[in-house]
Order: sequence, then C-alpha cells, then structure tokens
Amino acid sequence: MLRCLKSFYTLNAERLPLNADGRCLLLILLTNDDGIHSEGLVLLRESLLGKHEVCAVAPERERTCVGHAITLHKPLRMKELGKGEYATNGTPADCVLLGVKAVLKKKPDLIISGINKGPNMGQDVNYSGTVAAAKEGAFLGIPSLAISINARSRYHFADAIRVTETIIQVLEENNVLDSTFLNINIPNVFYSKMKGFMVTRLGKRIYNDKVIERTDPRGGKYYWIGGNGELYESLEGTDFNAVERGFVSVTPLGLDVTSNKSINSYKKYFRRIL
Ligand code: MN
Repeated sequence: MLRCLKSFYTLNAERLPLNADGRCLLLILLTNDDGIHSEGLVLLRESLLGKHEVCAVAPERERTCVGHAITLHKPLRMKELGKGEYATNGTPADCVLLGVKAVLKKKPDLIISGINKGPNMGQDVNYSGTVAAAKEGAFLGIPSLAISINARSRYHFADAIRVTETIIQVLEENNVLDSTFLNINIPNVFYSKMKGFMVTRLGKRIYNDKVIERTDPRGGKYYWIGGNGELYESLEGTDFNAVERGFVSVTPLGLDVTSNKSINSYKKYFRRIL
C-alpha cells in the first residue's frame, strides 16, 4: 500500500483515493502572485488536473512583491472563471485564506504557490507574494510549496512542471515537517540538463540600494527604488549557488523568525532596566 502525503489532515491515509496511475489523488489548492491567468499557474493546473483534484484561487491581476499582506479594510470578491478556478481582488495570502475557508471549506492536502515567473531566493522570500502564500498555508498547518523559476523571460515551464510533479511524489511518501514549508527554485533549463535536487539555506542578494529621485512635470519629487538585485553571494549550500550550478534548490523555511542565538545577549542588555 502506497503511503500518502501525510499532513495534519491526511494522516488517515485510507481516506485518500488513488488516481489512475495508482498514486494518491490529492486535493491541491493552487495560487500565485502573478495572477490567475499567468502561464506558470495555468500550465501547472492543466498538468495536475488529470491526476489530482485541483482548485485554483489567485489574484485577478499581478501582485508580485506584495509580501504577506492580507486585506482587512475592504471587501474581498471572488469570481468563478470556471470549475475550480477563482479570481480574487485579494493578495496571494488572502487567496489561501479564501481558498481554504470559503471555497474548499476544508484543508487541502497540499498548497502550491507558483510557478512564479522569476526566482525567490535569499532576502526575496521576505518580499515575495509567492512565498507568502505558501507561508499562509503553513500557518494553517497545511503542507505548502512556493515554486519559482529562475528566469526573467523564455521560461521552461514544461520542465519546471516535471520537477514539481517529482516533488509531489516525494511528499506523498514523506512528511512536510511541522511548522515548515518548502521554497523551491528551479533552474530555467531542460529537465534532462538539471543536476538533481539540493536542500539549501537562504543565500544573500547584494542590492545596490539606490533610491532614484526624479521630478515630475509639475515640479513634485518622486522616487524609484532602484537596482535589479541580480548580484548575490555564491556561497556553497545556498539557494543561489545550487540553482547557478543547475540544481533544483529546496529550502525548508520555518515560521518562527526569532533569532535564538541572540536571545542570551539581549537578555544581558536588558537586565536591571526598569
Ligand atoms: Mn510573481
């Protein structure tokens, strides 16, 4: 008997029916930050549909770089574009909440955010809507993946989808560990050219951190946050280094950002104050 993806919900593996390939038929919630019509989501959805039950809830327009924003002060709307396909005016994190609590009304077996056009490595994970959606899934106790492709154009989506399917297979046989989710970055090359998987830590991007000041036609100042941040430290064991070498980078991210190694130092600083 095949072991199935075990989550808070699916520990009871008998519950899961098998698909035509004899693999687990999973209930997958798909989302992204590039918008419901983005190729990365559309193609992944098409490919998963034959094997799994798929529900896509994604922003109606691109919401890249919105981070983990959620919408509290205006109504959220959902438009059903087709069976199991919903566009919303919300952020990627909103989409996960809407998908789980308003559409499915139960926890899916897996949440996939992506496949994002562009990498999400190093500090990017703090700005990324793609990563935030997966993090929201992890907050809800659902195994979640953020998947990004390392390119800015000419995306190898078919190859990235094959990688995604391999990852799903791995997860059917193993747990996503508690209070973690996986940030996946895929090199933009043919599947046959990929070197394999590498479990990594976050690397460090080097931003040229310029803020460019301009003047509008009425004399008012405006600003652009500059730099494309394409430079990075290529240290072994990091996501950047793995992808640069042709590996699929798998970074387990945690939900607790406490700096445990600093706790004792700060305890000393704040002793005997007040
Ligand atoms: Mn994006």
